[in-house]
Amino acid sequence: MLADQLLGFFSTDLAIDLGTANTLVFVRDKGIVLNEPSIIAVRRADRAVIGVGREAKAMLGRTPDNILAIHEPGGHLVVDIGGGTTEVAVISMSGTVYCNSVRIAGDEMDEAIIQHIRKHYRLLIGERRSEEIKIALGSAHPLPGEHRTIEVKGRDLVDGVPKTIVVTDEEIREALREPVMTIVETVRTCLERTPPELAADIVETGVVLTGGGALLRGLDRLLQNLTQLPVRVAEDPLTCAVRGAGKALDDLPLLRKVAIPA
Ligand code: ADP
Ligand code: MG
Repeated sequence: MLADQLLGFFSTDLAIDLGTANTLVFVRDKGIVLNEPSIIAVRRADRAVIGVGREAKAMLGRTPDNILAIHEPGGHLVVDIGGGTTEVAVISMSGTVYCNSVRIAGDEMDEAIIQHIRKHYRLLIGERRSEEIKIALGSAHPLPGEHRTIEVKGRDLVDGVPKTIVVTDEEIREALREPVMTIVETVRTCLERTPPELAADIVETGVVLTGGGALLRGLDRLLQNLTQLPVRVAEDPLTCAVRGAGKALDDLPLLRKVAIPA
């Protein structure tokens, strides 16, 4: 179980990414030893913990709002799109100079899909299912030659019976437009407020997308078109924060630079 695994490593150097959607633990010399959803299932009646991590996610099928994240100081402008929040940070050599945060990220995308299917098909689906649709079919920008569909099972809003519909990548892209554009606007606002000498650096080095939301197809392309900056997705964006923090464990000067003074 999660707690046992954690306790087993307490004497070792570790880096933890407590995300709103996923919790990762990186141990020096071992790499990522734990990668589980940030969820605990609690029985309503007596508040007993009945499941943790993946096991809990299977039970609940929804992500709770929580805690803080450690972010990788990787590029010059980092956009971290997690479950609950999107964080934009401009990193200079001497530290983070400007941050912007918005509570619109992966969860809002899931919610937008639920609302779309409810409104257009009068069909009720849960958050698990809408996240699956987002991952299987979601996009932020049309992809060349790609026209895909997926079957969605749910419960009819009017008569309550199970019903199956077919949705297209195009309509899911449309459904995701609002949260996606909010993320784009958050990046733009950050750029507007960035001092000119730093902005000049960003034009060179571009934007790095991290967090699970970075995996939304075509988000890099859309952001590139709308900001006119080079945009890239970090290698394995779901684990890069904890891997970056893990690297910092071996780099004392870097660790001192990014550490928050006690
Ligand atoms: P946090 O840091 O808040 O824990 P993560 O960086 O772990 O969040 O990202 C979790 C979010 O990424 C969830 O909303 C999840 O649905 C989303 N996600 C994961 N894979 C994909 C994908 N392939 N496409 C779009 N979103 C994804
Ligand atoms: Mg995160």
